[in-house]
Amino acid sequence: MKQDYYEILGVTKSATAEEIKKAYRKKAIEYHPDKNPGNKEAEEKFKKAAEAYEILSDPDKKARYDQFGQAAFDGSGGFGGGGGMNMDDIFSHFGDIFGGHFGGSFGGGFSGFGGSSRGQMRVKGSNLRIRLKLTLKEIAEGANKKVKVQRKVQAQGVTYKTCPTCNGSGQQIQIKNTILGRMQTATTCSMCGGSGQIIDKKPSNADSQGLVMQEEMVEINIPAGVVEGVQLKVTGKGNDAPGSNSVPGDLLVVIQEVEHDTLKREGSNIHYQLFISYPEAVLGISKEIETVSGKVKIKVEPGTQSGKIFRLRGKGIPNLDNYGNGDMLVHVNVWTPQHLNKEHKEFFEKMIDDEAFKPNPSASDKSFFDRVRDMFS
Ligand SMILES: [Zn+2]
Repeated sequence: MKQDYYEILGVTKSATAEEIKKAYRKKAIEYHPDKNPGNKEAEEKFKKAAEAYEILSDPDKKARYDQFGQAAFDGSGGFGGGGGMNMDDIFSHFGDIFGGHFGGSFGGGFSGFGGSSRGQMRVKGSNLRIRLKLTLKEIAEGANKKVKVQRKVQAQGVTYKTCPTCNGSGQQIQIKNTILGRMQTATTCSMCGGSGQIIDKKPSNADSQGLVMQEEMVEINIPAGVVEGVQLKVTGKGNDAPGSNSVPGDLLVVIQEVEHDTLKREGSNIHYQLFISYPEAVLGISKEIETVSGKVKIKVEPGTQSGKIFRLRGKGIPNLDNYGNGDMLVHVNVWTPQHLNKEHKEFFEKMIDDEAFKPNPSASDKSFFDRVRDMFS
């Protein structure tokens, strides 16, 4: 005679899914075979609780059970026919039963279980990392680079067969002693690395995993606006992993910025120091200057002060995250002559008391403080 599933878990028919889960957790811990070694009765209760949970945690099965009782499952596979569930099936549920909620309070003793650890993994090859130098122009415009990469690939003619150690499951079951007694945990198979396969045949030039080193040209698309240290990922261009169902690792590209001779980058803005002569500052001049996207002409008005900043909108670096470009800031530096002959000296000596040469910042087009404000705007 079958016992009522609700009775087994000690809940009422109106129990919520969360209450059912909680009740099962309690029973599973109480009757865990590792906590009750050699106790057949406990093991039976442990299995019963699992069976009850299997039905009551599934809305479809629960509905059928509520309507037809045990008869709904008689003769259907593992349930009702007296066979019950096997231990592997039971442990496979522990991931969602104990994951998260119970991991902490039990010191991770249950963390080795779990549905996710069953079955073979898709083994992924290791990642490769390269450094890629980019000029400011390439960063500003974005670039398409082709680089030679040495990556491990599966050798021509290599074949794989099922791993005899784990029978292709990729897992090895281990018994560990924990606070709750002996616990069964699944670890990655050491023979095949979790792929469930080992090498059957391989050419002589291949390594122990059936891999050979191969040089490959990889195309890397670099978006405009990358910054030093940014890591781009080229999926699948890392090393291959052994096995017929493995996936290759990724190629990680670390961006390095080559310093420009005259342009300094600050975020998405570009700074440029423009030096003009004293007469040029006095008389005004048109100057051609280099930007990241070609040359532009700027007009220096007569009477321009040292420290003036021209802001060339949009002539900086594109923002990676936002739309739009940064600006180019042209800083004017008036070059004070340092080596004067007699004639020069006489000219400046004549001008030293001249009103036109006396500093008068408030009368200039922009005061010093305005310029400082501009710099940080
Ligand atoms: Zn194996």
